[in-house]
Amino acid sequence: MRFFNTYSRQIEEFEPRDPASRQIKIYTCGPTVYSRAHIGNFRAYIFEDLLQRHLELRGYKVHRVMNITDVDDKTIRGARVAGVPLQQFTTQFKDAFFEDMKTLRIKRADEFPAATDHHYIDRMIEMIGTLISRGLAYQADDESVYFRINKFPNYGKLAHFDLTQLQSTGRVKHDEYDKEHIGDFALWKTWDEEDGDVRWDSPWGPGRPGWHIECSAMSTALLGDQIDIHCGGVDNIFPHHEAEIAQSEGVTGKKFVRYWLHCAHLLVDGQKMAKSLGNFYTVPDVLAKGYTGRELRYALLRVHYRVPLNFTWEGMKEARESLARIDEWLTRLHEIAEKKIHKGEGKTQSGQQFEEALDDDLNISAALGFLFDSIRETNRALDQNEMDAASAKAWLNCWERINSVLDLETETKTVVPEEVAALAKDRENARCEKNWKRSDELRDRISELGWEVRDTKDGPKLAPRAAS
Ligand code: AMP
Ligand code: ZN
Repeated sequence: MRFFNTYSRQIEEFEPRDPASRQIKIYTCGPTVYSRAHIGNFRAYIFEDLLQRHLELRGYKVHRVMNITDVDDKTIRGARVAGVPLQQFTTQFKDAFFEDMKTLRIKRADEFPAATDHHYIDRMIEMIGTLISRGLAYQADDESVYFRINKFPNYGKLAHFDLTQLQSTGRVKHDEYDKEHIGDFALWKTWDEEDGDVRWDSPWGPGRPGWHIECSAMSTALLGDQIDIHCGGVDNIFPHHEAEIAQSEGVTGKKFVRYWLHCAHLLVDGQKMAKSLGNFYTVPDVLAKGYTGRELRYALLRVHYRVPLNFTWEGMKEARESLARIDEWLTRLHEIAEKKIHKGEGKTQSGQQFEEALDDDLNISAALGFLFDSIRETNRALDQNEMDAASAKAWLNCWERINSVLDLETETKTVVPEEVAALAKDRENARCEKNWKRSDELRDRISELGWEVRDTKDGPKLAPRAAS
């Protein structure tokens, strides 16, 4: 497996920290909950979802953390304007975020730490103390604490950024006069009236953490000093991720991240979709136009993560058409798989090309290319009555693996034949009476008819049986 590492600006072979355990630690920068996330943000989260699901398909066990930034300039300003406490203000957007994640079928991270959790605030304070004791940070005259970038020689390596050049061209206005260097960034922001009751005590007086230290504290607290992969959108590279490296490595003395993966932006008319530009859509905006979450998922997923993607309604229409082709294909395969047509040995379909395409820096275009080529080929065979049940089942098995990464199967319920529904009901009664023998017999009978009954926490569910 290979990924483009922003740190080296090269495609690198993926070698996890601990290859024997096959455990992978991933940290992904999550939303700042000052308003509802826009679909540009979700492009980043869908790319991370694709990464996680593909690693899992390849047999890795992923431990992923996604933070929630629930205190920063924007959240504080928003709460003040709304006239409500910070937590009340951010909760509504946190809830909306989880709702949209579900709509887009994005796998939940293992942890969603919130920056304001006292456990992490304590850790941030502890880290800042260590950085000061090592001369890597200082308290300025305005009482805020800043990271001293001149003391961290690797500062700028991730962004490939030459700080001396930045100074000489004078492109950055030096508006925080208390700092030693214009590039020094805040670790602890001293309290001022605008912050209202948003404040924590610290050895440097009341205040609140800077955004960057939040991520360093939450990632090292939950994943340890060293992680395999760190993701975000390209706008996170500088200063946010550059600062995370300086802070984390400044405290631990160890290499913080092995692979930095960043996704290109979602654009509208060639410009970054952003709150500040007002050119954004939210998930509910797209649903209100009659599209489904899975259609939007497909539209955001189908272009390689390092290529900027222009959002258009034409693109949404194309997503709908592509999904209709997949749906139709699956329906046809199920029909054949249920019939007892046998024309010899069914060819196994491994979907290897799909998986190999994703091994290559998540080349989704090549992966989808394989899928649609396969659909075209099998449709031809279906049209000419050349597909037997075994081959159809093989394709359905192959789809199951592909879909474990794409998660694009329709929500529309397949119609369950009356006979199968009746057998499932009988089985349910048998189970209530603890008549396991009869229940097993009925399961076999259902299976013979090409259906599978799965016992879920919401009761038994029937699905067309893919495997033989
Ligand atoms: P924020 O809530 O602004 O901290 O952003 C959350 C995530 O969304 C970050 O990883 C950003 O890099 C990413 N992001 C923001 N805007 C876009 C966009 N237009 N396209 C893709 N990713 C974005
Ligand atoms: Zn972050």
